[in-house]
Order: sequence, then C-alpha cells, then structure tokens
Amino acid sequence: MNNRKIPFNNLPLLPINFNFLNQKIVDQLIRRELHTYLHGFFVNLLKINSMSQSLSLLQLFELFPDERSAEKWLEYQLWGKTVQCPRCSCSKSISIRKNRKPMPYWCGACKKYFNIRTNTLMEYSRIPLRKWIIAMYLFQTKPKGISSIQMQKDLGITQKSAWFLLQRLREAFDKKTVLFSGEVEVDETFMGGLRKNMSLKKRRATQSTAGRGVAGKFPIIGMKCRKTKKVVAKAIDTTDRETLHEFIYDHTTEDAIVYTDEHRGYRHLNREHHCILHSQYQYVNGEVHTNGIESFWSGIKRAYKGTYHYMSQKHLNRYVKEFTGRFNLKGWDVLDQMKWLFQNMVGKQLMYRELIT
Ligand SMILES: [Zn+2]
Repeated sequence: MNNRKIPFNNLPLLPINFNFLNQKIVDQLIRRELHTYLHGFFVNLLKINSMSQSLSLLQLFELFPDERSAEKWLEYQLWGKTVQCPRCSCSKSISIRKNRKPMPYWCGACKKYFNIRTNTLMEYSRIPLRKWIIAMYLFQTKPKGISSIQMQKDLGITQKSAWFLLQRLREAFDKKTVLFSGEVEVDETFMGGLRKNMSLKKRRATQSTAGRGVAGKFPIIGMKCRKTKKVVAKAIDTTDRETLHEFIYDHTTEDAIVYTDEHRGYRHLNREHHCILHSQYQYVNGEVHTNGIESFWSGIKRAYKGTYHYMSQKHLNRYVKEFTGRFNLKGWDVLDQMKWLFQNMVGKQLMYRELIT
C-alpha cells in the first residue's frame, strides 16, 4: 500500500465544512442526522487515507458498512456538495423528505421525486446500492473480468440479475473517446471458441462463412495510440475495406500515422500508413509493428478462455467495451475507477427485454 491520498478533490474540507447544508430547504432534523452521519463517514474515509489502487475488499466493506454510506458516496460523486435534480439540473428548489423512502428528494421545479438512481443505468434496479458498489469494485479489479456466475455467488443475487447488472456496467463504458493522433497501431482479431470444440451442426453452418480468420468466429477491430497508451475497439460484421477504413477515420485525426499488417482492407488509406509483413515473418521493422494492440488482444483472449468461455455475437461489443474501458483506466485508484464508472452510467438506460430480444 502506498501513501497516495484518497482521490476526492475536496476531501480535506468535508468533515468541517457543511455549508451545503445551510440551505433553508434542508429540514433541521435531517440536517442534524446528515451531519452526524457524514462526519462519521468522512472520518472513516480519512482513517484509511492511505488507501490507494490496492483498496482491499475489507477496506471496501469498512468504507461502505451499510446502504446509506453507499448512497451518500454515490451522491457525492455525482452532485458534489449540492443535490441536483437529475431531470432539470435544478439545485435551488430541492427538498428532502423526512421519510426518505424510496425517493428522498423532491424537485420543486419539475414537481417530481428523485433519488441517486434516477436517470442512470441503475434506475429500475432493485439491487441495493451497496451491492452495486461491491459489483463495481469486483468488475474493476478483476483483470480478466468477472462472470455472472461468480457475481451471483459474491453478491447473493440470482444469476439473471447478476448477468443484467454486468451488462449495465459494460454499458457504462460505451463512451465516445477523443480522436487519436500521432502513431497508432490498428489490427483485427477474431473471437469465438475453437472450431474443434463446436458441435457438428455449428461447424457445418459456419463452413461457408469462412473469410479471413477462422469460420464461426467474430471479428473485432482495435487501435492503440502509442502516445497515450489508450485503446479503442469495436465488434464488426466483416473485415472489408469500407469497415476498416471507417473505423480508422472515426478514431484518428488526419495527421495520424497508422501501422497495420498487410491486410488488403487497409490499402489506400487516407492517412500516413506503414505496414508490417506478417506473411514474410516480419514482426517488427523499426517503428513499424502492431505489438501494442496485439498484446491487448491476448488479454481479451485470456479473459475469454479463463472467465467467460462464451461471448455471443449479439453482446460481443459490450464485452469489447468492457475490456477497452478497463484497459484505459489501468493504474487509476480503484475508487476513482468506480467513480468514473458511475458517472458514465448517467443518462443511459438499458432494459432487460432489450438485451434478450
Ligand atoms: Zn427537476
């Protein structure tokens, strides 16, 4: 454990500065309750202020001993010191109900109740917030991901709920990234089980679809920026020129230098382009190689073998987002990663029936 401070920008102020509670709209009683509560909560946070990337499961439980602590933490990540209506962003006419359940806040502007789940991917979930937080922690700290069966066991929920929860966490990673500039490596790969393990029916069905790669596997295209070390990837239907070019144009600036293998689909690219001749057993030629993005692929494949065993083509893109997202947040404090994840759940909806139909 190193001595890095807890990643809350205003943390040192919190235990003593409760200005945000001075608004008239806050009922006296609730203020007193909240003050005592928050004080305890942040003192607790300060106690373990050497907490870092290696936040242990035990520390996580100390930090979130009950549902209220989870709720408070999520509220703070989204609203800071002032409660804000998730529908109209108003913060002036918010009042708190004495009986907090199930929606503790009332927005006088849009005349509706809300809570921290409103307008996020958690909105219609009945899973307690504390379990959501533990799920986020497990989801972020397992480098190979976590299966719905494991999540079911760890959280004590049904596998169906665990699967749906995981899909929603993956959805949080669906975010437009900044365009890559400078040197970028682009490559495609194929996901899916080994052909020898497929049923005869599936083997026959996939025989005719063989193109580049292996029949019955699904293509993914990815790009790694050498400057920022960030990746972006996407499940695609085919590896034709149009698809590959479109992906590159969508994610790079015009002055980017693109490194690929010799696949025909990359020819005539409207970017400075160099290719490595894998067919001639060439893997590195000075700056020309795609080793960065290939090592990212090997991470996904290890997870596929070790954790998931199966990714349906329909949901493949969500798994791809999960891995790119986790890769891009690597090295961050766990709490910062969880905060990022939650902030990116805002404004999104994903219903169970959308996933299964
Ligand atoms: Zn409102």
